[in-house]
Amino acid sequence: MISEKKNKKEKCIICKNNNFTYLFSDLDKYVQSTNKKFAIYKCTNCDLISIDPKINESQFDLYYPENYIPYDLSYKKISPFRLYLKKTKNIFSNILKIDKIKIELDYFKDIEKKYLDFGCGSGRHLNHIKYQYPKWKLYGYDRSIYAKKNLNKININFIDDLESIPDDFFDFINLTSVIEHLIHPSETIHLLRKKLKKNGRIIIKTPNWNSLGRVIFRRNWVHYDIPRHIYVFSSKNLQKFLTDNQFQIIKLIHSSNIGVELKSIYRSLKLNKRPKFHNFLTKLFLPIGILLNFISMSSTITTIGKKND
Ligand SMILES: [Zn+2]
Repeated sequence: MISEKKNKKEKCIICKNNNFTYLFSDLDKYVQSTNKKFAIYKCTNCDLISIDPKINESQFDLYYPENYIPYDLSYKKISPFRLYLKKTKNIFSNILKIDKIKIELDYFKDIEKKYLDFGCGSGRHLNHIKYQYPKWKLYGYDRSIYAKKNLNKININFIDDLESIPDDFFDFINLTSVIEHLIHPSETIHLLRKKLKKNGRIIIKTPNWNSLGRVIFRRNWVHYDIPRHIYVFSSKNLQKFLTDNQFQIIKLIHSSNIGVELKSIYRSLKLNKRPKFHNFLTKLFLPIGILLNFISMSSTITTIGKKND
């Protein structure tokens, strides 16, 4: 790994340091949108990973085409068999207390709550929440027009302009695989905090820089997702980011997504993902995912922050 210190024009968005270590440069290996290379830097003080140059909003169509998986329009209706599997999985998950986020949300299950999925993409997450918490009012926001079409299909409110929503409105704001894509995360979090009620929760799920997968697969770690991932956080700097933005941290959860490690293996070996085989391997290697959670080196981290005033 090349180790070279760089003074970039901008400061680290978390600790305001302006010294960065250059890690490597690479292409967009996922969408293959361009033959341009992007450089990856690490803040020498807080370890926040950032990309250079950063993509801007006028380039979104190039880097986020319609076939980009999170916007997948092929929304399948849940078959009775899948529903049965889902219910069974839920029962086990409840007994074994596997889903730590669900445990937090379940406290409010019987109360009408307003839940926003910021960056709702395909709408799958909101559909899941609708099933789990039928009493809640659900909202989705996304910069993509594909997402709006998806929410219309499943009858969930789509918000076109977040600024038009009154302040102190939502009880929960969820960001799954979103914060790492934001060009100005501090500004977004500031706006979202305004839209949260007092004691409202922000739930941020994002790749974990300190994951074993990143250490092993290095530049082939799929969570770099060059150039769409503008920042990659660690649990420590993510928590600092939230406390600096006036949230009280109430939970940090490591969650396994062994699919990330498997996709990193395929990329390292230059193999194509075969969906059925991938699903089989995901189940086979599930215990490794659980082990990675246990040693805090899982592929993703979730932080729940509370707005105190
Ligand atoms: Zn920093």
